[in-house]
Amino acid sequence: MKIGFIGLGNMGAPMAANLAKAGHEVTGFDMADVSIDGVTMAASGAEAATEADVVITMLPNGDILRAVAAEIIPVMRSGAVLVDCSTVDVDSARAVAATAEAAGCLAVDAPVSGGIGGAAAGTLTFMAGGTDAGFAKAEALFDIMGQKAVHCGAAGAGQAAKICNNMILGITMIGTCEAFALADKLGLDRQKMFDVVSTSSGYSWTMNAYCPAPGVGPQSPADNDYQPGFAADLMLKDLRLSQQAAESADADTPMGQAATELYARFVEHEDGAGRDFSAMLPRFEKRGRG
Ligand code: NAD
Repeated sequence: MKIGFIGLGNMGAPMAANLAKAGHEVTGFDMADVSIDGVTMAASGAEAATEADVVITMLPNGDILRAVAAEIIPVMRSGAVLVDCSTVDVDSARAVAATAEAAGCLAVDAPVSGGIGGAAAGTLTFMAGGTDAGFAKAEALFDIMGQKAVHCGAAGAGQAAKICNNMILGITMIGTCEAFALADKLGLDRQKMFDVVSTSSGYSWTMNAYCPAPGVGPQSPADNDYQPGFAADLMLKDLRLSQQAAESADADTPMGQAATELYARFVEHEDGAGRDFSAMLPRFEKRGRG
Protein backbone atom coordinates (compact mmCIF):
# COMPACT_ATOMS: atom_id res chain seq x y z
CA MET A 1 0.00 0.00 0.00
CA LYS A 2 1.00 3.60 -0.45
CA ILE A 3 0.91 5.20 2.98
CA GLY A 4 1.25 8.87 3.94
CA PHE A 5 2.36 9.32 7.56
CA ILE A 6 2.06 12.76 9.18
CA GLY A 7 3.47 13.37 12.66
CA LEU A 8 6.69 11.42 13.15
CA GLY A 9 7.41 12.06 16.82
CA ASN A 10 8.02 9.62 19.66
CA MET A 11 5.10 7.42 18.60
CA GLY A 12 4.73 8.14 14.86
CA ALA A 13 8.38 7.52 13.94
CA PRO A 14 8.56 3.89 15.12
CA MET A 15 5.05 3.17 13.77
CA ALA A 16 6.05 4.48 10.31
CA ALA A 17 9.31 2.52 10.47
CA ASN A 18 7.38 -0.70 11.17
CA LEU A 19 5.09 -0.11 8.18
CA ALA A 20 8.10 0.49 5.91
CA LYS A 21 9.83 -2.61 7.29
CA ALA A 22 6.73 -4.65 6.42
CA GLY A 23 7.15 -3.62 2.77
CA HIS A 24 4.71 -0.71 2.45
CA GLU A 25 5.65 2.41 0.52
CA VAL A 26 5.66 5.09 3.23
CA THR A 27 5.93 8.83 2.57
CA GLY A 28 6.25 10.87 5.76
CA PHE A 29 5.97 14.47 6.87
CA ASP A 30 6.73 16.21 10.14
CA MET A 31 7.23 19.89 10.96
CA ALA A 32 10.49 18.89 12.61
CA ASP A 33 13.42 17.67 10.56
CA VAL A 34 13.28 13.88 10.96
CA SER A 35 14.57 10.95 9.00
CA ILE A 36 13.42 7.37 9.39
CA ASP A 37 14.83 4.22 7.82
CA GLY A 38 12.76 3.21 4.80
CA VAL A 39 10.49 6.29 4.88
CA THR A 40 10.64 8.88 2.06
CA MET A 41 10.22 12.39 3.46
CA ALA A 42 7.86 14.86 1.77
CA ALA A 43 7.98 18.66 1.88
CA SER A 44 4.43 19.04 3.23
CA GLY A 45 1.52 17.09 4.65
CA ALA A 46 -0.36 17.54 1.38
CA GLU A 47 2.53 16.04 -0.58
CA ALA A 48 2.65 13.02 1.74
CA ALA A 49 -1.13 12.53 1.36
CA THR A 50 -1.67 13.07 -2.37
CA GLU A 51 -0.98 9.60 -3.76
CA ALA A 52 -1.73 7.61 -0.62
CA ASP A 53 -4.23 4.77 -0.20
CA VAL A 54 -4.08 5.38 3.55
CA VAL A 55 -2.97 8.52 5.40
CA ILE A 56 -2.04 8.06 9.06
CA THR A 57 -1.75 11.01 11.44
CA MET A 58 -0.04 10.89 14.85
CA LEU A 59 -0.27 14.46 16.16
CA PRO A 60 -0.28 16.26 19.52
CA ASN A 61 -3.90 17.44 19.77
CA GLY A 62 -7.29 18.04 18.15
CA ASP A 63 -6.59 21.58 16.90
CA ILE A 64 -3.48 20.43 15.05
CA LEU A 65 -5.36 17.42 13.69
CA ARG A 66 -8.15 19.70 12.37
CA ALA A 67 -5.57 21.98 10.69
CA VAL A 68 -3.70 19.06 9.09
CA ALA A 69 -6.97 17.43 7.98
CA ALA A 70 -8.10 20.69 6.33
CA GLU A 71 -4.84 20.70 4.35
CA ILE A 72 -4.77 17.06 3.27
CA ILE A 73 -8.39 15.98 2.73
CA PRO A 74 -8.81 18.14 -0.41
CA VAL A 75 -5.83 16.40 -2.05
CA MET A 76 -6.54 12.83 -0.90
CA ARG A 77 -7.69 10.31 -3.51
CA SER A 78 -11.34 9.42 -3.52
CA GLY A 79 -11.83 6.25 -1.44
CA ALA A 80 -8.56 6.73 0.46
CA VAL A 81 -8.68 6.34 4.25
CA LEU A 82 -7.61 8.88 6.85
CA VAL A 83 -6.56 7.01 10.00
CA ASP A 84 -5.92 9.29 12.95
CA CYS A 85 -3.98 7.53 15.71
CA SER A 86 -3.48 10.63 17.89
CA THR A 87 -5.30 11.03 21.18
CA VAL A 88 -7.70 13.94 20.60
CA ASP A 89 -11.12 15.14 21.75
CA VAL A 90 -14.14 13.22 20.51
CA ASP A 91 -15.62 16.32 18.82
CA SER A 92 -12.49 16.87 16.70
CA ALA A 93 -12.44 13.19 15.72
CA ARG A 94 -16.07 13.39 14.60
CA ALA A 95 -15.60 16.70 12.76
CA VAL A 96 -12.59 15.38 10.83
CA ALA A 97 -14.45 12.18 9.93
CA ALA A 98 -17.42 14.20 8.63
CA THR A 99 -15.14 16.38 6.46
CA ALA A 100 -13.34 13.33 5.08
CA GLU A 101 -16.58 11.54 4.27
CA ALA A 102 -18.04 14.63 2.59
CA ALA A 103 -14.96 14.64 0.34
CA GLY A 104 -15.43 10.98 -0.67
CA CYS A 105 -12.79 9.57 1.69
CA LEU A 106 -13.08 7.14 4.59
CA ALA A 107 -12.05 8.05 8.13
CA VAL A 108 -11.09 6.05 11.20
CA ASP A 109 -10.14 7.42 14.61
CA ALA A 110 -7.77 4.89 16.11
CA PRO A 111 -5.99 6.07 19.25
CA VAL A 112 -3.56 3.64 20.81
CA SER A 113 -2.41 2.32 24.11
CA GLY A 114 0.98 0.75 24.64
CA GLY A 115 3.23 3.82 24.65
CA ILE A 116 6.59 4.29 22.99
CA GLY A 117 7.70 0.74 23.80
CA GLY A 118 4.58 -0.68 22.15
CA ALA A 119 5.06 1.56 19.11
CA ALA A 120 8.65 0.35 18.65
CA ALA A 121 7.81 -3.32 19.21
CA GLY A 122 4.66 -3.22 17.03
CA THR A 123 2.50 -4.30 19.96
CA LEU A 124 0.10 -1.35 20.29
CA THR A 125 -3.61 -1.78 20.97
CA PHE A 126 -5.83 0.23 18.62
CA MET A 127 -9.34 1.30 19.58
CA ALA A 128 -11.10 2.34 16.43
CA GLY A 129 -14.15 4.34 15.45
CA GLY A 130 -15.58 4.67 11.96
CA THR A 131 -17.40 2.74 9.27
CA ASP A 132 -16.89 -0.99 8.62
CA ALA A 133 -15.37 -0.15 5.23
CA GLY A 134 -12.83 2.24 6.78
CA PHE A 135 -11.90 -0.22 9.52
CA ALA A 136 -11.52 -3.06 7.00
CA LYS A 137 -9.05 -1.01 4.94
CA ALA A 138 -7.00 -0.01 7.99
CA GLU A 139 -6.98 -3.38 9.73
CA ALA A 140 -3.97 -4.86 7.91
CA LEU A 141 -1.91 -1.85 9.04
CA PHE A 142 -3.11 -2.17 12.65
CA ASP A 143 -1.84 -5.78 12.52
CA ILE A 144 1.65 -4.52 11.63
CA MET A 145 1.79 -1.66 14.15
CA GLY A 146 -0.01 -3.48 16.92
CA GLN A 147 -1.22 -6.74 18.39
CA LYS A 148 -4.90 -5.93 18.81
CA ALA A 149 -7.47 -3.66 17.18
CA VAL A 150 -11.01 -3.29 18.46
CA HIS A 151 -13.64 -1.68 16.24
CA CYS A 152 -15.58 0.20 18.91
CA GLY A 153 -18.32 1.78 16.78
CA ALA A 154 -18.95 4.86 14.65
CA ALA A 155 -16.69 7.93 14.28
CA GLY A 156 -15.36 9.09 17.66
CA ALA A 157 -15.92 5.72 19.37
CA GLY A 158 -12.19 4.97 19.44
CA GLN A 159 -11.43 8.25 21.21
CA ALA A 160 -14.37 7.65 23.56
CA ALA A 161 -13.02 4.22 24.53
CA LYS A 162 -9.52 5.61 25.06
CA ILE A 163 -10.53 8.46 27.37
CA CYS A 164 -12.99 6.33 29.36
CA ASN A 165 -10.25 3.74 29.90
CA ASN A 166 -7.71 6.37 30.90
CA MET A 167 -10.16 8.13 33.20
CA ILE A 168 -10.53 4.82 35.08
CA LEU A 169 -6.73 4.45 35.05
CA GLY A 170 -6.11 7.94 36.51
CA ILE A 171 -8.76 7.53 39.20
CA THR A 172 -7.51 4.05 40.11
CA MET A 173 -3.88 5.14 40.31
CA ILE A 174 -4.79 7.94 42.71
CA GLY A 175 -6.84 5.51 44.82
CA THR A 176 -4.00 3.00 44.93
CA CYS A 177 -1.44 5.66 45.87
CA GLU A 178 -3.53 7.26 48.60
CA ALA A 179 -4.25 3.82 50.08
CA PHE A 180 -0.49 3.05 50.20
CA ALA A 181 0.16 6.42 51.89
CA LEU A 182 -2.59 5.71 54.45
CA ALA A 183 -1.19 2.19 55.03
CA ASP A 184 2.26 3.73 55.70
CA LYS A 185 0.80 6.03 58.35
CA LEU A 186 -1.02 3.11 59.93
CA GLY A 187 2.28 1.23 60.16
CA LEU A 188 1.32 -1.41 57.61
CA ASP A 189 4.21 -2.93 55.65
CA ARG A 190 3.94 -2.16 51.91
CA GLN A 191 4.70 -5.72 50.86
CA LYS A 192 1.94 -7.03 53.15
CA MET A 193 -0.40 -4.38 51.76
CA PHE A 194 0.40 -5.59 48.22
CA ASP A 195 0.03 -9.26 49.18
CA VAL A 196 -3.45 -8.62 50.55
CA VAL A 197 -4.84 -6.07 48.07
CA SER A 198 -3.48 -7.73 44.92
CA THR A 199 -5.48 -10.85 45.81
CA SER A 200 -8.50 -9.09 47.36
CA SER A 201 -11.32 -6.92 46.10
CA GLY A 202 -9.13 -3.79 45.96
CA TYR A 203 -7.00 -5.31 43.20
CA SER A 204 -6.54 -3.42 39.94
CA TRP A 205 -4.11 -3.03 37.06
CA THR A 206 -2.43 -0.16 38.91
CA MET A 207 -1.81 -2.36 41.97
CA ASN A 208 -1.16 -5.72 40.33
CA ALA A 209 0.68 -4.82 37.13
CA TYR A 210 2.08 -1.31 37.71
CA CYS A 211 2.49 -1.09 41.46
CA PRO A 212 3.42 2.51 42.45
CA ALA A 213 5.47 1.36 45.48
CA PRO A 214 9.18 0.76 44.71
CA GLY A 215 10.41 -2.77 45.34
CA VAL A 216 6.90 -4.16 45.64
CA GLY A 217 5.04 -6.17 43.00
CA PRO A 218 6.27 -6.52 39.43
CA GLN A 219 8.96 -4.29 37.91
CA SER A 220 7.41 -0.85 37.21
CA PRO A 221 8.50 2.82 36.81
CA ALA A 222 8.47 3.10 40.63
CA ASP A 223 11.56 0.85 40.55
CA ASN A 224 13.27 3.29 38.17
CA ASP A 225 12.87 6.49 40.21
CA TYR A 226 9.51 7.12 38.53
CA GLN A 227 10.97 7.73 35.07
CA PRO A 228 8.04 7.32 32.65
CA GLY A 229 6.53 4.89 31.63
CA PHE A 230 3.39 6.84 31.18
CA ALA A 231 4.11 10.45 32.07
CA ALA A 232 1.82 12.35 34.47
CA ASP A 233 1.63 15.07 31.77
CA LEU A 234 0.04 12.60 29.32
CA MET A 235 -2.35 11.35 32.00
CA LEU A 236 -3.38 14.97 32.58
CA LYS A 237 -3.98 15.45 28.85
CA ASP A 238 -6.23 12.37 28.71
CA LEU A 239 -8.10 13.31 31.90
CA ARG A 240 -8.77 16.78 30.47
CA LEU A 241 -10.11 15.18 27.30
CA SER A 242 -12.39 13.02 29.44
CA GLN A 243 -13.78 16.12 31.17
CA GLN A 244 -14.18 17.97 27.87
CA ALA A 245 -16.17 14.98 26.57
CA ALA A 246 -18.19 14.77 29.80
CA GLU A 247 -19.05 18.45 29.47
CA SER A 248 -20.03 18.02 25.85
CA ALA A 249 -22.18 14.91 26.57
CA ASP A 250 -23.61 16.21 29.89
CA ALA A 251 -22.18 13.26 31.86
CA ASP A 252 -21.67 13.47 35.62
CA THR A 253 -18.03 12.43 36.33
CA PRO A 254 -17.08 13.72 39.81
CA MET A 255 -14.20 11.26 40.28
CA GLY A 256 -12.84 12.05 36.82
CA GLN A 257 -13.04 15.74 37.68
CA ALA A 258 -11.24 15.26 40.99
CA ALA A 259 -8.52 13.19 39.28
CA THR A 260 -8.08 15.88 36.62
CA GLU A 261 -7.71 18.60 39.28
CA LEU A 262 -5.20 16.54 41.24
CA TYR A 263 -3.03 15.68 38.21
CA ALA A 264 -3.19 19.34 37.10
CA ARG A 265 -1.88 20.45 40.50
CA PHE A 266 0.78 17.72 40.44
CA VAL A 267 2.05 18.53 36.93
CA GLU A 268 1.64 22.31 36.88
CA HIS A 269 2.39 23.40 40.46
CA GLU A 270 4.31 20.54 42.08
CA ASP A 271 7.05 18.22 40.85
CA GLY A 272 4.97 15.93 38.63
CA ALA A 273 6.03 17.20 35.18
CA GLY A 274 8.14 14.62 33.38
CA ARG A 275 7.60 11.97 36.05
CA ASP A 276 5.62 8.78 35.74
CA PHE A 277 1.93 9.09 36.67
CA SER A 278 2.52 6.64 39.54
CA ALA A 279 4.74 9.28 41.24
CA MET A 280 1.49 10.28 42.95
CA LEU A 281 2.63 7.89 45.71
CA PRO A 282 5.68 9.93 46.85
CA ARG A 283 3.43 13.00 46.54
CA PHE A 284 0.90 11.58 49.03
CA GLU A 285 3.67 10.13 51.21
CA LYS A 286 5.00 13.63 51.95
CA ARG A 287 1.65 15.10 52.91
CA GLY A 288 -0.75 15.22 55.80
CA ARG A 289 -4.44 16.12 55.64
CA GLY A 290 -3.89 19.88 55.66
P1 NAD B 1 5.34 13.90 19.89
O1 NAD B 1 5.21 15.31 20.36
O2 NAD B 1 6.62 13.16 20.12
O3 NAD B 1 5.02 13.83 18.31
C1 NAD B 1 4.13 14.66 17.63
C2 NAD B 1 4.79 15.05 16.31
O4 NAD B 1 3.87 15.80 15.53
C3 NAD B 1 6.03 15.92 16.50
O5 NAD B 1 7.13 15.30 15.85
C4 NAD B 1 5.66 17.24 15.83
O6 NAD B 1 6.75 17.89 15.19
C5 NAD B 1 4.61 16.79 14.83
N1 NAD B 1 3.72 17.84 14.38
C6 NAD B 1 3.09 18.79 15.13
N2 NAD B 1 2.33 19.58 14.33
C7 NAD B 1 2.49 19.11 13.07
C8 NAD B 1 1.95 19.49 11.82
N3 NAD B 1 1.11 20.51 11.70
N4 NAD B 1 2.33 18.80 10.72
C9 NAD B 1 3.19 17.75 10.83
N5 NAD B 1 3.72 17.34 11.99
C10 NAD B 1 3.36 18.01 13.10
O7 NAD B 1 4.11 13.12 20.55
P2 NAD B 1 3.92 11.53 20.68
O8 NAD B 1 4.40 11.09 22.02
O9 NAD B 1 4.45 10.87 19.46
O10 NAD B 1 2.33 11.45 20.74
C11 NAD B 1 1.54 11.57 19.58
C12 NAD B 1 0.10 11.30 19.94
O11 NAD B 1 -0.02 9.99 20.49
C13 NAD B 1 -0.48 12.26 20.99
O12 NAD B 1 -1.81 12.56 20.63
C14 NAD B 1 -0.39 11.47 22.27
O13 NAD B 1 -1.37 11.86 23.22
C15 NAD B 1 -0.65 10.06 21.76
N6 NAD B 1 -0.10 9.00 22.61
C16 NAD B 1 1.19 9.08 23.09
C17 NAD B 1 1.69 8.06 23.89
C18 NAD B 1 3.10 8.12 24.43
O14 NAD B 1 3.43 7.30 25.31
N7 NAD B 1 3.95 9.01 23.93
C19 NAD B 1 0.89 6.94 24.18
C20 NAD B 1 -0.40 6.87 23.63
C21 NAD B 1 -0.88 7.91 22.85
